[in-house]
Amino acid sequence: MDVTVIAETSGDGLHPVTAQLVGAAASIGGTPTVLCAGGTGAAEAASISGVVKVISVVGDCFETFDSGAWAKALNSVTGGDVIIAAASPSGREIAATMAAIRGIPIVQDATDLTPGISVTRPIYSGKAIETSTVTTPCAITLRANAFDSAGEGGSAEVSTVNQSADVAVAVKEAIAKASERLDVAEADIIISGGRGMGDPVNFSHLNEIADMIGAAVGASRAAVDTWEEIPHGMQVGQTGKTVTPSLYIAVGISGAIQHLAGMRTSKYIVAINKDPDAPIFGVADYGIVATWEAALPALKEELGKL
Ligand SMILES: Cc1cc2nc3c(=O)[nH]c(=O)nc-3n(C[C@H](O)[C@H](O)[C@H](O)COP(=O)(O)OP(=O)(O)OC[C@H]3O[C@@H](n4cnc5c(N)ncnc54)[C@H](O)[C@@H]3O)c2cc1C
Repeated sequence: MDVTVIAETSGDGLHPVTAQLVGAAASIGGTPTVLCAGGTGAAEAASISGVVKVISVVGDCFETFDSGAWAKALNSVTGGDVIIAAASPSGREIAATMAAIRGIPIVQDATDLTPGISVTRPIYSGKAIETSTVTTPCAITLRANAFDSAGEGGSAEVSTVNQSADVAVAVKEAIAKASERLDVAEADIIISGGRGMGDPVNFSHLNEIADMIGAAVGASRAAVDTWEEIPHGMQVGQTGKTVTPSLYIAVGISGAIQHLAGMRTSKYIVAINKDPDAPIFGVADYGIVATWEAALPALKEELGKL
């Protein structure tokens, strides 16, 4: 089964989720060809184990992001039984537009794939998990961190194709990230604070722990809405970012359904809350009933020993 993987990029290179897309393609018995829009990350993609071919697609349209133009240009250089892309804002748009051009179905935001093809994904803001089967040809977008990455050591052939398309909507300016810290959408470990942190100044405790374990710092909507120092880019949940890290530490977060919608698919959830009845304990693998003032110094001390 030929699988076309749309490489996800970050700046001038490949985003780590691309190796997860390749891993997922292999898990359903696919032979992955990776398409690199504008040529970004082509050499890196070729070194991912299991990739059979990399097509570097270059053209004027890749100078600015227009999902329609990118999808048209990428679509015309490959066939394939399955299109796989990241469930990122750009990946979703490109995959959906390619599916529309081809007249094939698309399943968005998958968290599990098995041969067949059976696709599992959260629906209704994470309140239910749906498993469906989809026939090929089809397109599927995958949630970041839900799939094992393919390893390194590949040496796929890279070919370059000149292919452009008319740009209808051009991004003129992208505002820089509100924070220079690791983005929650990209992190494998997240420590998030809620209104229970009491004051935005107290997020410094979360930052310190995050620096010790290479985590990103997130927040609940109540924290973002209450304190202007906590930018919206940090918000996890239904109206924030959807994350699937290996470890999610929720500190002073009650666990409202809208927050759970963005993080309940995390592999391990640790909750620190002074209220033993807080709903967050209903989804937590490990719960610490304590104030953060008591729990975080102890956590910092133990992490320091490692
Ligand atoms: C349409 C809609 C969309 C929404 N989208 C989102 C979203 O994307 N993300 C999101 O997070 N919310 C979202 N919300 C808001 C959501 O309903 C909750 O209001 C919000 O998640 C509550 O945030 P919180 O848990 O930080 O605050 P609170 O509900 O105020 O909870 C604070 C928690 O901290 C604990 N606490 C207090 N002091 C301490 C202490 N010293 N140590 C330890 N624990 C302490 C308390 O016991 C409590 O459980 C949305 C709501 C709506 C209606």
